[in-house]
Amino acid sequence: MNGPIPGPGDPSGGTQDSPRPPVTERDVQADDRAGHLADYRAAFRIATLPMALIDPAGRIGSANTALETLLGYAPGALAGLPADAATGLDLGLDGDIRGPYHAVLSGRREQLRCTRRLKHADGHAVWAEVTVRPTGHGGGALLSVLDVTERRELREKLWHLQMHDPVTRLPNRSLFVERLTAALGDSATGRIGLCYLDLDGFKAINDTHGHRVGDELLAAAAQRLTHCTAGATGSGPLVARLGGDEFAVLVDSSAGTAQLTRLAEAMLTALQRPFEVAGQRLSVSASIGVVERECAGLTATSLMQAADTTLYWAKADGKARWTLFDPERNAHRMTRQSLTATLRPAIERGEFVLEYQPIVSLADDTLRGVEALVRWQHPRFGRLTPDRFIGLAEENGAIVPLGRWVLTEAVRQARAWQLAHQLRPAGTAGAGPPPFVSVNVAVRQMWDSDVVADVTRVLGEIGLPAGLLQLELTESAVMGPAGRPLQALQELSEMGVRIAIDDFGTGYSNLAYLSQLPVRALKLDGTFVKGFRTARHLNPADETIVTALVDLAHKLGLTVTAECVEGQAQADRLRRIGCDTGQGWLYAKPLPPEQITAMIHGVAGYGGDGGGGRGGGGEDGGSGGGGGRG
Ligand code: C2E
Ligand code: MG
Ligand code: MG
Repeated sequence: MNGPIPGPGDPSGGTQDSPRPPVTERDVQADDRAGHLADYRAAFRIATLPMALIDPAGRIGSANTALETLLGYAPGALAGLPADAATGLDLGLDGDIRGPYHAVLSGRREQLRCTRRLKHADGHAVWAEVTVRPTGHGGGALLSVLDVTERRELREKLWHLQMHDPVTRLPNRSLFVERLTAALGDSATGRIGLCYLDLDGFKAINDTHGHRVGDELLAAAAQRLTHCTAGATGSGPLVARLGGDEFAVLVDSSAGTAQLTRLAEAMLTALQRPFEVAGQRLSVSASIGVVERECAGLTATSLMQAADTTLYWAKADGKARWTLFDPERNAHRMTRQSLTATLRPAIERGEFVLEYQPIVSLADDTLRGVEALVRWQHPRFGRLTPDRFIGLAEENGAIVPLGRWVLTEAVRQARAWQLAHQLRPAGTAGAGPPPFVSVNVAVRQMWDSDVVADVTRVLGEIGLPAGLLQLELTESAVMGPAGRPLQALQELSEMGVRIAIDDFGTGYSNLAYLSQLPVRALKLDGTFVKGFRTARHLNPADETIVTALVDLAHKLGLTVTAECVEGQAQADRLRRIGCDTGQGWLYAKPLPPEQITAMIHGVAGYGGDGGGGRGGGGEDGGSGGGGGRG
């Protein structure tokens, strides 16, 4: 690297052949030194490595030709200039380099090496690796400069290739995420916006016209997007291709939701005009998920996820539209997701509990049975009612193990009540049989599990008579094409298990068909009962329908239970119509099992501690009879 600098002992120097005075030892030494010095200077000047000697005050003593050339200065023009000041010359020795640089100049530091952007006299940038080392005697330093511009440019080209998509020349996902991350840190407005766009029907174009046409279409779409997002200055939001037919636009200092939705609208319009690609006229539309949020607390990943979810909504809502991110809709989705995911482990962890709601004889208010209703004591969401999770459990199949747990638990409890009933003190009111337990069975349980085997095993193991178990199925569970459920119902019925049709009246309500099934009871849906809520506000149509239904059911040998009996007037009416039993808040809300036990022992009546129940006044609460029922 260094020029041909001779070693200190090298005797080379100019030759002298003219006569001269006698030469002393000292003269010889002085001559040698002068010769060496000239040599060193020459070597320094012609060395290919750009260098400069800096004096202790920080001025350039001398710079070599290579440095002058590199920076575009005339010979000798650099000498005398301060190396670290901006007198046109910039050796990059300012800023945080200043301290270490002065330490080298005063000999307190061995070396300084850094990569800096230097300025050529004509203004262009020269990337250089600058090294400064102390010269050793009396302060001062040697500065040498390695031109790394080419290496740097090559690296930049490679980076560009890595960070851009060759088809559309847009930034790719990596660059987009990098910019997004940076923008989250330094948004001027503290807000950030994102449009996540997906072309509708692009796959079909790719499949029918081939990938080349597809690529051209993408490039043309990219161009339109870039054009319509560019602001007046030409430097608008960052448009990137995330892959396939997905694009994203980043607004790094968003002014608010309106700015983003306007942008989304503009993009939809821009893509509306048909594309002329390879001699064909092609039309596409796009779906866009729009997210506009405060930066605080966000990560690039969470923002991308939100955008992805919102894009999915836009597609689900019918495509060719933008949809705005909605935190509540998202929370709902997340809750659904996390509930579904934790259903099965929750069964094992024992997070489910059963409550029991009395089914009461309308004729004499005695307790005939109880319906088992499942609740989820969720560690995060608290107590969840079945409408939050039964549907999810049916979707993902967890209803099978959950239903098995409910059956086992309810049968175990019914057996305990049967024993309690036998042991109840003499003279306790209500001499009837022990209460049956009614267990809901979901459609999917009928198809995906062997309910007959489960029931047989559970009854056998626990020792509950089959007659004390009722299974509630909806019409849809038994009305399907003949097959497994029917066969199962038949077998269960032959065992002595009661089969009830739940929510009767909401589905097919095909009594003629039901009469051919081994069904013992109808549970009349609450909506009917609501129709004759109070004596004063009767809905005659509902009463006529219920009267007809009850008559027909009785003719077919079925008993009828009315659901959602909330008031005394309703109960009175239902009794007159001929309904057999009722269930609802008039008697009791769903209760923990201990309270049912207390009822059996005759120490509590309906409406005791259950929160619901009769005696509650109001326009229906009239008669109030029935406390202390056993
Ligand atoms: P369902 O079988 O029709 O249960 C009756 C629902 O009505 C219960 O809601 C009960 O709390 C409610 N209810 C009772 N009395 C009244 C009243 O007077 N007024 C009003 N407005 N509502 C009353 P819950 O407990 O939320 O159960 C909802 C549904 O979840 C049940 O409807 C049943 O279809 C299902 N379900 C509950 N437990 C299970 C289970 O263990 N397995 C299956 N597969 N489904 C279950
Ligand atoms: Mg039910
Ligand atoms: Mg019901």
